Amino acid sequence: MMDTAAPIYLDYAATTPLDPAVIAAMTDSLAAEGGRGNPASLHGWGRRAAARIETARAEVAALIGSAAEEVVFTSGATESDNLALLGAARAAADRGRHLVSTRIEHKAGLDPCKRLQKEGFALTLVAPDRSGRIDPQALAAALRPETILVSVMWVNNETGVIQDVAAIGALCRERGILFHTDAAQAVGKVPMAVRELPIDLMSFTAHKFYGPKGIGALYVRAGVRARLQPLLYGGGQERGLRPGTLPTHQIVGFGTACTLARAALGHEPRRLAALSEQLWVQLGPLGGVHLNGAGAPRVPGILNVSIEGVEGESLVTGLSDLAVSTGSACNSASAEPSYVLRALGRDTELAQSSLRFSLGRFSQPADIEAAVAAVRREVTRLRALSPAAEPQGTASEAQLVGESGGPGREVWVRFRLQVEAERVVRVTYRVYGCPHTIAAAAWLAERVRGRAVADVVPGTPQQWATALGIPAEKLGRLLTLEDALRECQRRAAAV
Ligand SMILES: *Cc1c(COP(=O)(O)O)cnc(C)c1O
Repeated sequence: MMDTAAPIYLDYAATTPLDPAVIAAMTDSLAAEGGRGNPASLHGWGRRAAARIETARAEVAALIGSAAEEVVFTSGATESDNLALLGAARAAADRGRHLVSTRIEHKAGLDPCKRLQKEGFALTLVAPDRSGRIDPQALAAALRPETILVSVMWVNNETGVIQDVAAIGALCRERGILFHTDAAQAVGKVPMAVRELPIDLMSFTAHKFYGPKGIGALYVRAGVRARLQPLLYGGGQERGLRPGTLPTHQIVGFGTACTLARAALGHEPRRLAALSEQLWVQLGPLGGVHLNGAGAPRVPGILNVSIEGVEGESLVTGLSDLAVSTGSACNSASAEPSYVLRALGRDTELAQSSLRFSLGRFSQPADIEAAVAAVRREVTRLRALSPAAEPQGTASEAQLVGESGGPGREVWVRFRLQVEAERVVRVTYRVYGCPHTIAAAAWLAERVRGRAVADVVPGTPQQWATALGIPAEKLGRLLTLEDALRECQRRAAAV
């Protein structure tokens, strides 16, 4: 959840701001004659647009260490993943129908694999070890004679863990299996010479390294093109693999971003590593802070931590002047917190207490200082609000205590009702959970005050959900709050 006025942006793994030099190059391209001509046209305008595109293609190729002809422009890494996976599998369907990927891929890699399952392919998803690494031996064990394609991401977008694509690719090459890697988080961050590695297909996207959104590429090793079936049919651009008029200004911006990234590779990783280290060290005194991906090689710009005793989305909501991500699933459609952290063996509580800080070109030590101060303040506040912070079973005679949920669950709540003359005169509560849960507990506490002890529950969870604008699929959390109030009521009856 990002405040548009956020002064501190630490969400570079979600997308990066454009570099000013990229904006300048794109503006120039849009205004100049390149903005007019169709690069496929043979007149002067078209030729000038085509020349700009070919310059950019060479810049892209220089960053990844490929030949320019091996770069196919797409709309981004999602499309590149789809083209690689659907295109390679469908083209090879008569040779074999087994795919291998991993449980920690980006959805842009996982969902095409699931689509292929519906088309009759068998899919094996290899689990990572506890550090988040895919063991090449575990991957080798998943290969079958009919395996046609393996896809393993280069750098994980949540944890920053770097996979051994050289070893995994070598296993594939020995067996004549195509190897694809989603390198959206690696290109521009990890020095690479893709041609020298056993990689056949590689997806990446400009907006993860200071280029524009909506433009990316698929590296297609020379000779592999014939083993890909296109997803689109049309005017034959990109040698038929990805038809459609090429967006000159987008591609110019992409090329410029690649040139800047190549220049920065010599020093930027060291600078980001120092900033990440500063962040990690300064978070330490909070206690209960776990590094996700510990023990594995990681890119320097991503620090993913789980913080005991706080729910990630409540934390992020409280950090309104800081843009970071969480693996918590409160507002997402899925009930599950981060499947990536779960695959690393994190339990639900630690998976839903995760924060991903991702740093980049414009991050400064002062940003880290301010981020740490904000996180400390908010973690302290949320931990104090949690039932865990309060000794249990200390109700005085005039208090009714009701508790529901518990440690390790998605909700934990405790209400204390102070009673005088059969009326609730004061309500205090402790709560752990997502922002909906915390808001609902506060709201209920207000409404319970003044009620008769025999009837402390103000309406039904459905009514509360409507009043608070809480989506129906989150009703379970409100039922937990109701349980706690009902327990207060039972206690009253028992006295
Ligand atoms: C961002 C990202 C994508 C999606 O890229 P788009 O260009 O936004 O489609 C795919 N894979 C990974 C690992 C990413 O980080």
